[in-house]
Order: sequence, then structure tokens, then C-alpha cells
Amino acid sequence: MKVLDQRHLPEERLATMDETGKRVYIFSAQVKGLYRRYRTIVQIVLILFFLFLPWVKINGHQAVLLDIAHRKFAIFGLTFRAHDGPLIFFLLAALCLGLAFVTAIWGRIWCGWACPQTVFIDGVFRRIEYWVIGSNIKQINLAKAPMSKEKFIKYSITWILFTVVSLIIAHSFPAYFVGAEQLVEMTQHNPHENWTVFLIMAFITAVLLFDFGWFREQFCIIMCPYGRFQSVLMDDDSLTVSYDPVRGEPRRGTTKHGETEGDCINCFKCVVVCPTGIDIRRGMQMECIGCTACIDACDEVMEKIEKPRGLIRYATGNSLKGIKSKMLRPRVAIYSVMLVIVLSLLAINISRREDIVVTILRGEDTPYQVIKNEENRKEHEEDHAEDEKLLVINHFKVHLKNQTIDDVNLKIAVPGTWKEKHVQVISQADTINLEAGKDLTVHFFVKFPSVITSNTGTQSIKLIFLDLGKNQTKFEKELKLVGPKSI
Ligand code: SF4
Ligand code: SF4
Repeated sequence: MKVLDQRHLPEERLATMDETGKRVYIFSAQVKGLYRRYRTIVQIVLILFFLFLPWVKINGHQAVLLDIAHRKFAIFGLTFRAHDGPLIFFLLAALCLGLAFVTAIWGRIWCGWACPQTVFIDGVFRRIEYWVIGSNIKQINLAKAPMSKEKFIKYSITWILFTVVSLIIAHSFPAYFVGAEQLVEMTQHNPHENWTVFLIMAFITAVLLFDFGWFREQFCIIMCPYGRFQSVLMDDDSLTVSYDPVRGEPRRGTTKHGETEGDCINCFKCVVVCPTGIDIRRGMQMECIGCTACIDACDEVMEKIEKPRGLIRYATGNSLKGIKSKMLRPRVAIYSVMLVIVLSLLAINISRREDIVVTILRGEDTPYQVIKNEENRKEHEEDHAEDEKLLVINHFKVHLKNQTIDDVNLKIAVPGTWKEKHVQVISQADTINLEAGKDLTVHFFVKFPSVITSNTGTQSIKLIFLDLGKNQTKFEKELKLVGPKSI
């Protein structure tokens, strides 16, 4: 196993690769300091957030659900189906623009503070190594040593703990895709009853072990597309973890005759803590994930030699050159305007979206049918007009399309005022079971005394669609009744 010599980093290639392209392993030192404390708090919060988010419900739905198999999605109270392409597009566009905006101002703050890759490796996996094997020096010595009982035991414990953590993450991860309750139900059955999910979890566990346990910084350096984009998203006014060469140079051991030494004592502390194997003193590099470890390491050194902290600090390229940094600049303005536009379009689309699309059409048979009102014939015989003795029937069909991710049971009715006038709805099905994402057509008839339309031959009424599950009106529709004019 080749181990990176942090004091002799190559100039012409990645530090994690030797001249033949083989992996060179990094064992970064543990660091203490202000940013380390803040990052630990952020990592605990984010890990708890990741583990418990699927159990949180907003508006009766899982806070984040990406059920690709059933093509239903819930994101913080908003629900989408596969046909909500524009909404999903606007949401993704807002996330991308948000990331571009954040990067333009705060550089790779996402990578260093919130990316799951950093959070889990730095917050959990490396801590396990420090706890079981010890400091980076002990880890290097153990890695270089031939196989022994001690090496076998320490590596076994490390990888058993890695596997336990990976299993916990892998068992939480599918909750985002199959639903938390469904996942609990699945875990109570034998694996052979849910082979697909079982294999997915086994695969995720293996991937996590591979990535967080072994591949690590290689993912950020070689594979992550965001890492490749950062150079176009940032400029000299973006805040990044930077070394101040004006203050630091010439570093100890590099002074020429008559030169005064800078603050950098060339101790390499900032390099040995770097998880991606770079020397921040060489300037901004694509491998830097902005983890702040070098800031804490250098601040500790500066305190010891009684110099001001901040030789490595969050700074913009311009501020290091003595130029005043600007927060508001064309790229930030463009990202902000685009973000506002996309969020506005998202909001407009959401506000216009109908949960259930309803189309009511008249039946293709005769516009109306007139029948005798047998029930009330005797009652009305003496004191009512001929109109009261007749009933009119209109035939309609309603096409319903459920665009939500919930099943709904509906009942068609008329408001109380029309009920009192003996307007009645007779539906093909008393309860309409409309499944999530499905559509169906239901025939129904409206029966009413002919007096309702006797003036003009038509009468508009309101039709109510009751949500039987919530016992409330889901929506209302206008309906035009036709019947005979006064006979
Ligand atoms: S930790 Fe600070 S003093 Fe030491 S080498 Fe890095 S920049 Fe120089
Ligand atoms: S250079 Fe500093 S901030 Fe960048 S990855 Fe290395 S330790 Fe982290």
C-alpha cells in the first residue's frame, strides 16, 4: 500500500496517484479548533435530519418521498406525480440555481459542510478509525506493517463498525423511496418476500462501504460533477478557504538574503490534516473541498508562535490581493434573478394545479326526459300546477382525474337549497373510489321537478363533490339543467 508523504506532494499530478496511476492512500491527521467544533454540530444535526426526515409528515405526507416505482413524489408538503414534469423541472432548476448562487458567494461551502460524502466520512467513518486504530501516524504504521494479530483485529473491528453504520444508513435510505411505513413493514418480513428491496439495501450497504470506507476522497477528486463545475461558478469575489501569501511568504526555510520571514513556519500542519492531500499554500485547487481543517490546524500553530490567527482563513481572491470584495456582482445578480423567476414559476404552477381535474359532459342521449312524479302525484293533484306533477331527468357523465398521490372517495350531491327543491343526484356509484394518479368516468342523473326549468327551459345549479374520507366538500362545479318550459 502506497501512503502519501504529505511533505513531498507531487506538482505534476494528483497527490492520490503515483506515476503509474495507482492509488496513493491518505491518512489525514485529526484536528481540533473552532471550525471543527462547528462542523461536528452541523454533522450531528445533518445525520439526525437524514435518519429522521422520512418519519416526519407534512400535510399528511412523508416530508420527502421519491416513490419512483409508483411515480409519486412528496417534497416538504408539495406532492407531485410523474405528469407534473414542469413542476419537477422548476424544482430541480431552483435547486441547481440555488447551489450556483451559494457557490458564487460562499464557494464550496456545500462540499465542506453539508455534502453527505463529507458528513459521513468525516463525521463517522474517520472517527471510527481514530477510535479503533489511533492517530494518523498509527494508521500509517499499521497500514505499512505486515499482517499480524493486532492488524487483523483492528481492521476487523473497524470494518465491522463500518458495516454496522452502512447498514443503518442503507436501512434509512430506502425510506425515501418506498415510504417509511412500508419500509418498517418490509423489514418485518423474510427477505424472500421482498427480494427487490432486500437486494437494493444489500447493494446500498456495499456501495457505502466501498465509498465511505475505501474510495473516499477519490469520489470528490475524480467523480463528483459539482467539483468540476466549481471553477466556472466561482470568481475572485467568492469566499473560499485560502492561504494568505502576503502574510505567510516567504515561508521559513525559503528566505533569500535580506528577506524577512513571513508568518508561515513551514510546519506542514495544514497539509497533514487535509483529507484530499493538497497543500493550500499552492493556491486555490480543484481538490479543495473547503473542509476548514487547514484553518484550524494553522490557527493552532499561530497561537503557539503568538501570531494572529487567520493565516489560512475564509477569504476572497480579491481580498487577498488587497482589492475590496463585492458581494453583488453580475453573476450573483443573474443567479438571483433566475432563481426568483424559477421560484415564481414554480409557485404559479403549484397555485394553478388542480388536485382533481373534472370534466362534466352531458349524456349523448336525449337532453332530458320527463316522467310522472308518482310519489307526489296525489299530494299535488289538487293544489299544484301541472309542473309539480312532472319530474325531469338529465343525464351527465363526469370524467375525474386524480392528480394527487392519495386515493380519494367522492360522492356527488347538490347543496341543501336545491335539495329542498327536490333536486336529486342519482349516481352510477354511490361512492366514487378514485385512486391516486388514476382517472375514471362516472355516469349520473339529476332528477328535478319540471318547475325548476319552467321559466326559461334551463337552470344553473351547483354540484358538490364530497370527500367522504375528510367529510368535507372537495370541490364544486356549475351544472346547467335543461327541461321543458312551462307546460
Ligand atoms: S499550518 Fe500554517 S504555518 Fe504551518 S505550514 Fe501551514 S500555513 Fe504554514
Ligand atoms: S485545503 Fe484545507 S479546506 Fe481544502 S480540503 Fe484541504 S484541509 Fe480542507
